[in-house]
Amino acid sequence: MSAAPYATPPTFPNADALDPGFLRDVSQGAARLSGEQALKLFRTAPLTTLGRYADARARNLHGDTLRTYVIDRNINYTNVCTAKCTFCAFRRSGHEADAYTLEHDEILKKIGELSAIGGTQILMQGGMNPDLPLEWYLELLSTIKRTYPHIHVHAFSPPEFIEFVNFFDPPGASIKDKIRWVMVRLKEAGLDSLPGGGGEIFAHAVRDKIGLGKCTASAWLDCMEVAHELGMFTSATMMFGHIEGVADRVHHMLSVRERQDRVLREAAQLGQPLGHYKAFISWPFQRENTPLGRLPEWGQKDLAELSMTFPGDVVANLEGTGTKADHPEFGRRLRMSGSTDYLRTQALSRLVLDNVYSIGASWVTMGPHIGQVALQYGANDMGSVMMEENVVSSAGTTYCLDEPVLCRLIRDAGFTPAQRDNVYDILRVHDSAQSPDRLVTDWSQHRAKRLHAQTADGEKAATVELTTSVAKDSNP
Ligand code: SF4
Repeated sequence: MSAAPYATPPTFPNADALDPGFLRDVSQGAARLSGEQALKLFRTAPLTTLGRYADARARNLHGDTLRTYVIDRNINYTNVCTAKCTFCAFRRSGHEADAYTLEHDEILKKIGELSAIGGTQILMQGGMNPDLPLEWYLELLSTIKRTYPHIHVHAFSPPEFIEFVNFFDPPGASIKDKIRWVMVRLKEAGLDSLPGGGGEIFAHAVRDKIGLGKCTASAWLDCMEVAHELGMFTSATMMFGHIEGVADRVHHMLSVRERQDRVLREAAQLGQPLGHYKAFISWPFQRENTPLGRLPEWGQKDLAELSMTFPGDVVANLEGTGTKADHPEFGRRLRMSGSTDYLRTQALSRLVLDNVYSIGASWVTMGPHIGQVALQYGANDMGSVMMEENVVSSAGTTYCLDEPVLCRLIRDAGFTPAQRDNVYDILRVHDSAQSPDRLVTDWSQHRAKRLHAQTADGEKAATVELTTSVAKDSNP
């Protein structure tokens, strides 16, 4: 029996993006938004309209009952990095006193702590450290798998892979061949899936300005394509709310959707499962302690600017082909995102990415309560109980929640919390009196914690390390 062909939802180029019937079809997976329609929707639909249809789409895909979270741990194995992303407060060149690379034993200790509280996955990413040979990674992965075979290793984003190619000089006629050579070996050693770090904004003009020394968008997408060919799931990310235009955000989403179509179509043709993008997570840029964050906001120097189009919007287009020459102030002014811009963007991503299973809420940057509201704006997943966070907290305030708080946020949003694994299979549904949040008698011990890394002189942030365990009384 041959496999069913892959079919995308039909497009209706003449439909008005605000037409309720069309949006109802989009929310049911029966119509696909074009780039122009997505742009119009973002620019003109009321926030609650976007939320209503994104929520309907999430319910269509995930039902009305469960919303999920995972227990994993971020491990940033090194902060030494060859790139100089202007939005990054985490990187070090290598000679600074606080430059670090974790020993394998330290990484294993962290995984042991995660395992002890019922965690299922590590998210391991770092700077791109030229001093670490391939053997360092192979030995690390095989030791992790030998010691903790039940822990899923979600590690090494595309920019790291591109630098692996530069550092290790593997054989291959093309960049994809070289990536494949490295990736096969890391997979054999224990790598399970790839995180979508380093996506930022794909449009060249923006990427060139903010991602100095980081891989191109096409290299990022090609790297994920190799991971998919090898059967691995990946996620995609977007960091917005800086110099980009709204069309750049839509172009970014369309790029992921197009590559996802490609791999799902190929899998259907081959009649065998390939990897693909399992989730999309977007969050606003955090400015503190970063070179990019020192740029003035649009309208800050001269209020008259506010009556003019933001430079990023002048440059941006749906093909991602704008250039800095299109506006003299492009890249010199920021337009930071607030809560409503975040919710609009996330809701739009749910509607545009009709072929991506999960949309994650970004409570780590937006705070627990906007994260909770995000569950009504297209998100179906609250991400991870946060044991440790080093990267984003170096650039501003981030939040840290334990399992009871995360469960309560989900329940108070009108859903039943459920712990998932790395492939979004449900591990535990918390619908009983023994649920982590329902066991809590003293909520003062379970407050959201704020992280904010800044030294007294305000110059450079120290690397933040914290360990917030899942509450003891919440785990059998
Ligand atoms: S964001 Fe990542 S790649 Fe860019 S400088 Fe920071 S650590 Fe390096």
